Amino acid sequence: MKNLEAKHPGEKEYLQSVQEVLESIEEVYNENPKYEAAKIVERLVEPDRIFKFRVVWVDDNGNTQVNLGYRVQYNAALGAYKGGLRFHPAVNESMLKFLGFEQIFKNSLTMLPLGGGKGGADFDPTGKSDAEIMRFCQAFVYELWRNIGPDQDSPAGDVGVGGREIGYMYGMYKKLAREHSTGALTGKSFGWGGSLIRPEATGFGAMYYVERMVKQNGDTMKGKKIALSGFGNVAWGAATKALEMGAKVIAISGPDGVCEIKNGITKEMIDYMLVMRDSRRNKVEDMATKFPKAAKFTAGKKAWSVKCDIACPCAFQNELAEEDAKELLKNGVQYVAEVSNMGCQPKAIAALQKKVPFAPGKAVNAGGVATSGLEICQNAEHRNWTAEEVDEKLHKIMNDIYDMCVKYGTDKKGNINYVKGANIAGFMRVADAMLAQGII
Ligand code: GLU
Repeated sequence: MKNLEAKHPGEKEYLQSVQEVLESIEEVYNENPKYEAAKIVERLVEPDRIFKFRVVWVDDNGNTQVNLGYRVQYNAALGAYKGGLRFHPAVNESMLKFLGFEQIFKNSLTMLPLGGGKGGADFDPTGKSDAEIMRFCQAFVYELWRNIGPDQDSPAGDVGVGGREIGYMYGMYKKLAREHSTGALTGKSFGWGGSLIRPEATGFGAMYYVERMVKQNGDTMKGKKIALSGFGNVAWGAATKALEMGAKVIAISGPDGVCEIKNGITKEMIDYMLVMRDSRRNKVEDMATKFPKAAKFTAGKKAWSVKCDIACPCAFQNELAEEDAKELLKNGVQYVAEVSNMGCQPKAIAALQKKVPFAPGKAVNAGGVATSGLEICQNAEHRNWTAEEVDEKLHKIMNDIYDMCVKYGTDKKGNINYVKGANIAGFMRVADAMLAQGII
């Protein structure tokens, strides 16, 4: 860690994610001298390569705009690079390196042949017109297209990149690459290469995982009060499945504050989350404006201020701080599962782990990328699977991930550390593949 801090000063998120993994794998690493001899850790922490490029586009007023785009191709020991693209003004190299690093282990947990990568741009989609989004996506892919492809690197969505953006990027990719039905990008819409259940997959997968955590404690999801942060694609999928499981989503949030939904979110409200997202206003208050009787908006508050049984960060990294963890515990939270990548700060995790089961994003949210992997399979077969087929495979993958976390995370006393379990299971598959493939 000291070497890494000296080499990459100020890359806060990146160093945080590496630290967590190294702490978890310390024992298994030291027990296997072959890892040390092949310098597996030193090789894993540095990406294979990073593309960094200028993205120039013209806004609706005719002004020239300049953004920075990136693709971090992190590790390909298990397969072609795979991971989303994030469009957000705070995107920088550290953020994408942390996301790419996490992606290696997450993709490994899916047991699919997927390497790890991530990309994005410091482009802010908030308030942009459809035409502006299209021009930006086209300019982004114009730079990147030679370095992606179904057997090379397959980007998908992440914060700020959904079905619409993938459509514009895929359209441009096909035009340039003259490839017309591939998994060069995933998260495509159904009808032109997309997989059924891909939009729901991250949230569905998360709830399948949470259901197992609850079951582990001899309990059920029925009537459980769930606080979710955000109202984007991930929160939408999680709310949909939670409702189906008989749980109650009693809070969603946004950058402007929190909406408390005392009687639990309804199907109609879940559908409205899509309208809110499409408006690109990025305001959760819109839910309370539309459903004034059911939802109460409080400005400036987080979802963690609402009393709940299960807390699921679904928005951004480090969104749950130590004081939020303390407030949740004081209000009787029973389980915390990160659905966003690295959603909790290290001190929050430490506080939570002392009292309640806590699961990390790289295990809980792996259903998204897993279903992207299934999309690539369908593209290669030139076939579409039914929603039931995809959901069944997703459910099995999440169950297997849960079992691996328990297998590698249970100590001699029978206590489960899900963070440790996920990191060890994810690491070992990658490390063994790197060993087998030689010093490259
Ligand atoms: N951005 C998602 C993640 O963090 C999905 C990546 C993908 O489907 O490639 O895993």
